[in-house]
Amino acid sequence: MKLSICHLYPEVLNLYGDRGNIICMEKRLNWRGIECEVTKLGIGDTEDLSKFDCFFIGGGQDFEQEVLLSDLNSGKGQELKSAVEDGKTFLCICGGYQMMGHYYKTYDGNTCEFLGAVDFYTVGSKTRMIDNYAFQLGEESGGSTVVGFENHSGKTYLGKGVSPLGTVLKGFGNNGEDKTEGVRYKNVFGSYSHGPILPKNPAFCDMVLQTALERKYGKATLEPLEDAFENAAHDTVLEKILKQE
Ligand code: GLN
Repeated sequence: MKLSICHLYPEVLNLYGDRGNIICMEKRLNWRGIECEVTKLGIGDTEDLSKFDCFFIGGGQDFEQEVLLSDLNSGKGQELKSAVEDGKTFLCICGGYQMMGHYYKTYDGNTCEFLGAVDFYTVGSKTRMIDNYAFQLGEESGGSTVVGFENHSGKTYLGKGVSPLGTVLKGFGNNGEDKTEGVRYKNVFGSYSHGPILPKNPAFCDMVLQTALERKYGKATLEPLEDAFENAAHDTVLEKILKQE
């Protein structure tokens, strides 16, 4: 078995080591004898996007998000939307997550018209939502707890037809108001969690990989790995976050 992962805009969307998520996916596949090929696709690069099984998009500041708009509008955006509808797996973090929605209206009044691949929108607020945080994945995404770090001014509001990725246990999540965090639509996983999110949340990493493998090969069972260190990191951080004032 083999997965082809496309790392989109690695040169501009890579806050807080988000690319660690790629390393984590690659390792957890290789440890199970599954091949993984990673292709970096930057601004101006063209490729047939239908050949990828999985896409990773990291986070970035408002400025970087604005820089990407013309590239998205040059055709890449349409291809990404088709890939979403085709059931391809996406892991999108913060600025990359916002990019999948309809638009992001920044606090200083600029509107970035985004992909509209998933039904939600984002509006910038005066106060940034910054801290370690935790949430519980929805059942369709495995139900485990996830620990992470958020830093965004954008407040995201989901449309009626899409589900949140999870429910906030501590912190802000999508908007600090409705306890939702991230989005799950088909095989798109969007989250505000930098950190990177996957190494200290191995169950979530496997859930993401599983969707890509099942999409490609039908049934796919991921052998359990020896995750003692990963789980200890997750549990320690979770305990600390839940105790935070
Ligand atoms: N610019 C966006 C916001 O502040 C995303 C920031 C990020 O990716 N950390 O809401």
